[in-house]
Amino acid sequence: MIKRSTTEKMLLILSAFAVITISPFVYLRWLDGDMVMASIDASLVIVTAAFFLFVYRTRKVDTAKAWLSSFFAVAIVTIVAIRGESHLFWLYPCMIAFYYILPARAAGIICFIAILLIAIILFPVSSVLEFLTITFTLFLTALFSYVIFNNYNKTNEKLALLASIDPLTSSGNRRALDKKLEKILADQKREASKVSLLLLDLDHFKKINDNYGHANGDIVLVELVSLIQKHTRSLDDLYRYGGEEFIILPLKVDLSEAKQIAEKLRIIIEKSTFAEDISLTVSIGVSQYHAGETAEAWISRADAALYVAKDSGRNRVVTETEVTKEAIEAKSVEENGS
Ligand code: GH3
Ligand code: MG
Ligand code: MG
Repeated sequence: MIKRSTTEKMLLILSAFAVITISPFVYLRWLDGDMVMASIDASLVIVTAAFFLFVYRTRKVDTAKAWLSSFFAVAIVTIVAIRGESHLFWLYPCMIAFYYILPARAAGIICFIAILLIAIILFPVSSVLEFLTITFTLFLTALFSYVIFNNYNKTNEKLALLASIDPLTSSGNRRALDKKLEKILADQKREASKVSLLLLDLDHFKKINDNYGHANGDIVLVELVSLIQKHTRSLDDLYRYGGEEFIILPLKVDLSEAKQIAEKLRIIIEKSTFAEDISLTVSIGVSQYHAGETAEAWISRADAALYVAKDSGRNRVVTETEVTKEAIEAKSVEENGS
């Protein structure tokens, strides 16, 4: 089942709605014997229906949006040129729709050209007052829409960013991790390739909080995140998985290469100091994605490896292949408290 984005859904609803509302006009014009307008309205219905199918099938939303908006602007200008100013009322809701579906700048360009053409068409045939009223109201509608939608888009971008980052460390949060995992799994379904993850947990972090205070513990987390980000390639993202647990992925390498990357990271952290003079070590579990498995299964193998790393003394890297049956049993006994 394809998951459609909100934009995609809105476009499908909007175009279906346009087809439904314009269709009766084809019939009414035809009844009136107005074959020119009936043909224009029919072409609007056909193009909008084609747009609906195009978005539904190909999901190439951006291309479709630009073409549909331009087509509607051209259609309205043409109708006004043929049938006069009473038809330009359609331009008002359309302009707002252009701003809704396109980036504000692109919508602004389409609106500006449409208003200019309408002004050129109406200037010779309308009174000065009429001409000024039409051009000003069109212009103000376009201008206000630009301001409102520009603001709306910027706010949405900010909110999307805020919703995906961890407020303390600015690494990705769980929501961003889930989204990333979903994307990786979808990519793997299409074309399988080597991909590994690191699950990293700070050693004895509770003691750091106890000895240096919670505020310094926070600083340690923040500095650790920027240190890791500095030393992992831009391809790899860092996510806060839990309080002092982080996941690094996707490492587009197999298990042994991922282990080397983890080992380098472990040494860098061991040699660094945080919050001025606090030393710190980390334990890391490494697992490679197995075709067809869930994200939970992939992470749980890294978690089992991390458990072994902790159990065998901390400050070390363990891969999933080093996890023995006994270790898994010991872990489940510990977790169940029996
Ligand atoms: P281990 O080596 O077994 O991982 O020991 P640990 O002490 O790191 O692990 P434990 O799970 O017992 O404790 C984790 C600690 O991390 C406890 C909690 O107070 C601390 N912690 C979690 N989130 C934050 C945070 O945002 N800021 C600070 N300062 N501490 C945090
Ligand atoms: Mg810990
Ligand atoms: Mg932990």
